[in-house]
Amino acid sequence: MDKVYLTWWQIDRAIFALADELRKNFMPDVIVGVARGGLIPAVRLSHILGDLEVKVIDVKFYKDIEERMEKPKITIPLHGSLEGKKVVIVDDVSDTGKTLEVVIEEVKKAGAKDVKVACLSMKPWTKVAPDFYVFRTDKWIVFPWEEFPVVVRE
Ligand code: 5GP
Repeated sequence: MDKVYLTWWQIDRAIFALADELRKNFMPDVIVGVARGGLIPAVRLSHILGDLEVKVIDVKFYKDIEERMEKPKITIPLHGSLEGKKVVIVDDVSDTGKTLEVVIEEVKKAGAKDVKVACLSMKPWTKVAPDFYVFRTDKWIVFPWEEFPVVVRE
């Protein structure tokens, strides 16, 4: 699969664009960051939007050998209640959308009154299109926090 490389500068611009959209359309009480890829955008958004509370969830998928099906596994559950809160779930990319499907369900179970999804990027085939996103690509995205700079020494 072709790759596309995003820079820190592009990511920061994208996060500011998401913050603007959220301010105009859905100012949240709480941000739920999806580990790992959603954590850096979640923390940055929290600062830009005025020190909003950030909660963390981690969902992994594993193959169930007997059923040979992919099942989601929550490895870090949401902590505490979201009763009556406006919540924005933040992730790096919605690809199949399976992660977000599980996270949305968990956030609703925790009592959230209103839930929206903000992602830096989405794939055209996802079953969970984010309410707010910046990039749309069918390529594999490499985020700047996944890359190590090449240091050349003389
Ligand atoms: P899902 O398929 O459940 O929507 O995506 C699960 C997770 O896989 C995403 O949150 C992300 O961490 C990772 N992922 C999916 N597509 C990409 C991609 O193009 N680039 C990177 N770096 N991670 C991806």
